[in-house]
Amino acid sequence: MYFADEPEHITMLRDSLRRFTEQEAPRERRQEWQAAQTWPRDVFAKLAELGVCGLTVAEEFGGQGQDWYAATAVIEELSRAGTYLCGPFIQCAFYGGGNISESGSPAQKTELLPKIAAGELHFAYGLSEPDTGGDLANVKTRAHLEDDGHTVVINGTKRWCTGADWADYIFCFVNSDPDGEKYRNLSMILVPTDAPGITRQQLSHRNLVYSHSFDVYFDDVRLPAENILGGPDAWNQGWRGLAGRSLDVEKIEVAAMTFGLAQAAVEEAWEYAQQRRQFGKVISGHQAVRHELVEARTKLEACRHMLYHAAWLVDQGRPASVETSMAKLFVADVGVEIGMACQRILGAYGLSEEFDMAQTVMDLIGMPIVGGSSHMQKNNIANRLGLAG
Ligand SMILES: Cc1cc2nc3c(=O)[nH]c(=O)nc-3n(C[C@H](O)[C@H](O)[C@H](O)COP(=O)(O)OP(=O)(O)OC[C@H]3O[C@@H](n4cnc5c(N)ncnc54)[C@H](O)[C@@H]3O)c2cc1C
Repeated sequence: MYFADEPEHITMLRDSLRRFTEQEAPRERRQEWQAAQTWPRDVFAKLAELGVCGLTVAEEFGGQGQDWYAATAVIEELSRAGTYLCGPFIQCAFYGGGNISESGSPAQKTELLPKIAAGELHFAYGLSEPDTGGDLANVKTRAHLEDDGHTVVINGTKRWCTGADWADYIFCFVNSDPDGEKYRNLSMILVPTDAPGITRQQLSHRNLVYSHSFDVYFDDVRLPAENILGGPDAWNQGWRGLAGRSLDVEKIEVAAMTFGLAQAAVEEAWEYAQQRRQFGKVISGHQAVRHELVEARTKLEACRHMLYHAAWLVDQGRPASVETSMAKLFVADVGVEIGMACQRILGAYGLSEEFDMAQTVMDLIGMPIVGGSSHMQKNNIANRLGLAG
């Protein structure tokens, strides 16, 4: 089973996405997007026409039926061309399709999932805060229900909210009961980005440059209780949605993006090393470079196994909390090693804007931090495996 070929529909999906990115996302266009720190709406619309956004949505809501393995392969293939298509794909199909399918109320599913499957809606994550990173159960953004029980009022600040300017909704993770028991005092609210009371301040960052990220201020943002993810009955149950299957999916998604980026780094270095000549021969003929390239490919292969085994478990609906954490941990940390080794092979050109490498490495460096840091993954794994301490 471990060594079976990928199903034919995955091979066909990869082929069509490779053709798509070669045609629609050549290096010149990627450089334009990088300079403008943006993603191409026109190309994304064409991508959505391929039906890929429906891979996280059930057929009854207009999707292709949830296929987490295929959706993982989409992230991998898109991120071989940087984050410019992969980022918005994740913010549609994974943030939206994953969370609404898993935790949405019947009304939220009916309203939102068909638009997600069509690639028409994007979501941002409002989890981190100025004083809250990994320790998400400690968020300070506060929400309360007004006396009528029908209106939620949100106050607080979210940090690093990627795409808060172009997403349609923010998943805003709030403390909804300051006197409540830890983990039973949290809710997730679906906040339209144009809701009155929201303001933004742009932050600067060098990774994930398909978008800007923002501090988002919530100042008496008032919404119907129907905007609680899962509906009014899911008040104070936000942790269950965040820490359950959605978290497994989130770890896979970051690992897949890392894997695609690491592959791009290896491909660029592999090609460069066979062109660049020093000391009378191509640099791939020097043993040090030759070995470095082979080590990078070997690590890449190990990442592939970790990633797709975890994705397969998720797809099968099997328990996957340990394997997804291991995959996120391993692929993110090894992805940085791969990127740095490949960058060295390009010498000065690994730092030049003329090649993809500098941005690829910058994106890779962020991966052990976002989506649950490597330290947090180690804590999760140790706890899940019952390690005393
Ligand atoms: C470009 C970019 C985009 C982002 N986009 C989003 C987004 O859209 N939405 C969002 O909500 N967030 C986003 N983030 C934030 C990201 O998720 C956080 O950076 C991440 O969760 C880590 O939080 P922190 O940086 O505050 O680190 P901290 O939690 O402060 O941790 C700092 C260091 O201490 C370590 N550490 C902390 N606690 C422990 C512990 N218990 N045991 C061992 N080590 C520990 C960490 O591993 C890390 O090395 C983004 C970040 C970046 C850079």
